[in-house]
Amino acid sequence: MFWADTIADEVERRYEDRIKAGLPLVVRDEKTASGRVHVGSLRSASMHAIVADVLRSRGHNVKFLFEINDFDPMDGIPSYLDTETYEKYMGVPLCNIPSPEPGFDNFAEYYGQEYVKVLDKVGFGAQVYRASELYRSGVMNDMIKKALERRALVRDIYFRISRSEKPEDWYPLNVICENCGNLSATKITGFDGELVDYTCSSDTIAWAKGCGHTGRMSPYNGNAKFPWKLDWAAKFVAQEVNFEGGGKDHYTKGGSRQVAEAICREIFDHEPPYGVFNEFFLVGGKKMSSSKGGAATAGEMADTLPPHILRLLLLRTPINRQIDFDPDSDAIPVLYDLYDKLAEKYWSGIRDDDSQVFTFSHLIDERGEFPVRYLPRFSQVAFLVQMPHMNIYEEVAKLKEGELTDLDVAELDERAVYARRWLREYADDKFIFSLQENVPESATSLTDAQRAALISLADKVSALETIDGQSLHELIHEVKGESGLTPQEFFGGIYTVFLGKTSGPKVGWFLSTLDKDFLLKRLKSEE
Ligand SMILES: [Zn+2]
Repeated sequence: MFWADTIADEVERRYEDRIKAGLPLVVRDEKTASGRVHVGSLRSASMHAIVADVLRSRGHNVKFLFEINDFDPMDGIPSYLDTETYEKYMGVPLCNIPSPEPGFDNFAEYYGQEYVKVLDKVGFGAQVYRASELYRSGVMNDMIKKALERRALVRDIYFRISRSEKPEDWYPLNVICENCGNLSATKITGFDGELVDYTCSSDTIAWAKGCGHTGRMSPYNGNAKFPWKLDWAAKFVAQEVNFEGGGKDHYTKGGSRQVAEAICREIFDHEPPYGVFNEFFLVGGKKMSSSKGGAATAGEMADTLPPHILRLLLLRTPINRQIDFDPDSDAIPVLYDLYDKLAEKYWSGIRDDDSQVFTFSHLIDERGEFPVRYLPRFSQVAFLVQMPHMNIYEEVAKLKEGELTDLDVAELDERAVYARRWLREYADDKFIFSLQENVPESATSLTDAQRAALISLADKVSALETIDGQSLHELIHEVKGESGLTPQEFFGGIYTVFLGKTSGPKVGWFLSTLDKDFLLKRLKSEE
């Protein structure tokens, strides 16, 4: 079963009463806007967006909330920002730090909006809100009061679930210092049911500087923020969340999810939402960038692939299995091949898990008919766009064995755009080809047997009336059999004289795209 259907089934089962009462099902996800967003975050976003999408497709009323977490403190300075400029903001809520670029209200807006734009582009868009708004609105007040009053039980939960020992005088909340604006450097020292006493000191935490201020203030309406695990639990309650998962790292035994769920039940008297973990999305193993581009940020990945192909990449793998994607390799051509396979299957009328993956890979407004069109292989388009002497429309019409329709042309044009981008930004050298104007230098290293095979092929080709991919394919294999050469020697010889490389695209098809005279002369190394 398509993994998102499995999750949607469970949401329906758990919230049957809510559905019957006509209440919306709430799906929530968040991202801390502390810098550029790594592509791996799209995994979590896709899980929540697709579950919301599947539930909606079943006719449910779904509220999908996406939080730009702008209330977390800065706890590290991204490598691309100037350390000296930002050092003084360590421990300050992100919404109170200036934006790195003009035109944005604050630091969190700058990075948060960039990410939201990516989510909209790939169709993962949701109702966006900010964590600061949530705290300032007062909906967290009740939970803040409960957590302060039951702080002994909070400590007990931390120890019971995660073996984490908090000091006796610990309060599960940080206030924003009225004097210097720091959040992480403050420490609450007392609570009388209404106001908290606090100190702001560099001794509180290693990486944030306090100002030495001591004060007494209300912890409500945006004056304070929970530490992460309580924060998560309080948001479950405040937003009445029904489905929210998270990265695998939060789902370990004794990890933040278990702590948040226990806090939700025992401190806030609320049943936590259903949630599952998503596995990681790695780019090229662990490496974050390649020699050429990077595709390390969500924005870069959204520029590298059209939305439906990026969605396919995110949806095709069960959410609890890792995705390792390397745009330098043949991963993108292979992904397109998968799309083509799913499309053909869909068009043949088969409805199964694959058709669910295919359907939900498209943005909502693209769904419906999925008009039949010719899908040229991405690898072939990527080759064609590198051959300036070829007309890609004619070559693709030959592959189709028929005239191209308007839809075919639109599909080809889009693939050509993304193929050029892939070749320019990522593709490994082995995918870069140029038809050699003259017999290349490297052809001098061919053996006599290789030369003889090429000449024999030229003789047979010259006898053909017309050259097409299929007849060339047959001839080539005939000559290869007679030559006694290994495939590597035989095909390597052909690619060498034309491309100056020992590998290339499907050889029969490739040779069929060449002018016959040129083909014959080059096989005989005459030109
Ligand atoms: Zn201070």
